[in-house]
Formats: sequence, structure tokens, C-alpha cells
Amino acid sequence: MLTIGSHMSIAEGIAKAAENAGKMGANTMQIFSRNPRGSGYRNYEAREVENFQSIRKEYHFGPVLAHAPYTMNLASAREQTYEFACMVIREDVARMDALGIENIVFHPGSHTGIGVDAGIQNIIAGLDQAITGQERIMVLLETMSGKGTEIGVNFKELKAIHDGVKHPEKIGICLDTCHVFSAGYDIVNDLEGVIKEFDRILGLDLLRAIHLNDSMMPFGAHKDRHAPIGDGEIGMEALINVLKHPALAGLPVYLETPFDDEGHKKEILVIKEKLNLK
Ligand code: FE
Ligand code: FE
Ligand code: ZN
Repeated sequence: MLTIGSHMSIAEGIAKAAENAGKMGANTMQIFSRNPRGSGYRNYEAREVENFQSIRKEYHFGPVLAHAPYTMNLASAREQTYEFACMVIREDVARMDALGIENIVFHPGSHTGIGVDAGIQNIIAGLDQAITGQERIMVLLETMSGKGTEIGVNFKELKAIHDGVKHPEKIGICLDTCHVFSAGYDIVNDLEGVIKEFDRILGLDLLRAIHLNDSMMPFGAHKDRHAPIGDGEIGMEALINVLKHPALAGLPVYLETPFDDEGHKKEILVIKEKLNLK
């Protein structure tokens, strides 16, 4: 069974987001854990949380994915930035866990000049003050394109974070097809090689989610610009091959393509057609 959904707005609440996703033909969704560019969030009332739970049951949702805000930089050496990031990840791991959400993904961060190793040490310390080991939720590191001083441009950096934390059993990986392609992993011509490399460095059991995006930017560009599926440099065939690969089959898939709900609904339909599921 394919578990697929897209990034959904929580402007009207989490229950409404799940309902909209279900109506789109999705059986999961990604939501922001709070305002992606600011720092605000609102607490959901018990009734809304119950609604969310019953709607996700009704539509047979697979694992739901929360995405931490972009403004959160756990690699930062600037005290204010770092303290803010530590607070956000600590609060949002607990908040999303309380909602029964299975996974929360975040961008590891940008070291902004202090170097990859120092950045990774900051990320590890930040995760250690956020993850108690008692939660059910898994914390996913996203594979990044490597723009600027981004950490997570290769599997080794993600492995170093995983191995450094107190609770590595709570850490997983979210593979973003646009980001890995832009980072220089050739999923178009050598998907098998990329998957083998992932398995060799990280182990495939750490892979928990796929962000399915095409890339506006060419291979190895280290730029993060998502394109609609089939409309970018990766192409429809290569992205369908990702979904068909036996090592990745069964993983929940989330679209982050530049579309509204109506566009994502069509995209999900096309993907199901290509996979002969409809
Ligand atoms: Fe992301
Ligand atoms: Fe992504
Ligand atoms: Zn991206």
C-alpha cells in the first residue's frame, strides 16, 4: 500500500488539515509544527485533537509527519539563535508527540562559519536537551542540498549526528529527493548506487520518510528549489523509480511541490496512475 500525502496548511487547525488531506485522496500529510517563519504556535483544544484522531482513522492515515520551522538553526554558534532553536525543538518534540504524530523532521542547520564538526556538536547537544527517550515520536534529520553552510549535505554528516546523541534509537532520516539530487547524489542515473551508499553509511532501517520533489536546479547545484513532479531536472520516470524501489517501498511519501491542495490532489492521482494503483 502506498502512503502518500502533501504538505498541508494548519491555518484552520489540525483536524481541518487532515480532513482536507483525506478528501484529496491522501492517506497521510505533513504539517508545520508551528509557524514556519516566526515562532508562534497555538495549543489545540482536546476536542480538536480528538477530531484529528478520528479523521485520520477514517481515512486510514499512515504515519503523519510534522516539520519544524525553517528559522530553527541548531547548528548556530550565535547564542540567541541557538537558545531559540533548542527551545523550539524541545517544545515541538513534546507537542507533536502529545498529538500522537509519528515523526517530526527538521533541517539539521547551517554552521555559518564555525565549521561542520562544531555545527554537528551543537546539533547533538540541542537534540540531547530535547529528546528524553520516553517519547513515541521519532525525530528525523532531513537530507539537505548543501546551500551555504548547510549540514546534512551528505550521509556521513547525518550519521555523525545520529551516533553522537544520547538516544540514537529516536533518530531517523527523511530523504528529500530534490535535496539529495541537488547535493550530488545521482538518483536519476544511479538510484541503486545511492541507496547502497545510504545503507552502507546510515543503514536503511534509519530511513523513515520520503519528501518527493522534483528539482528546478541541475544535478549537484547545491540549491534548494522544488519543482512539480515531472517538471524538473529529476523527471517523472526517476521519481517513480524511487517509489518502486523495493528498499523504499512502504515508506510514507510527502509532496512538497509548489502547488496548492488542488494541484497536489492531481499530482497524487498521476503518481498512483504511474504506479498502476488506480
Ligand atoms: Fe524540509
Ligand atoms: Fe523537504
Ligand atoms: Zn527543500
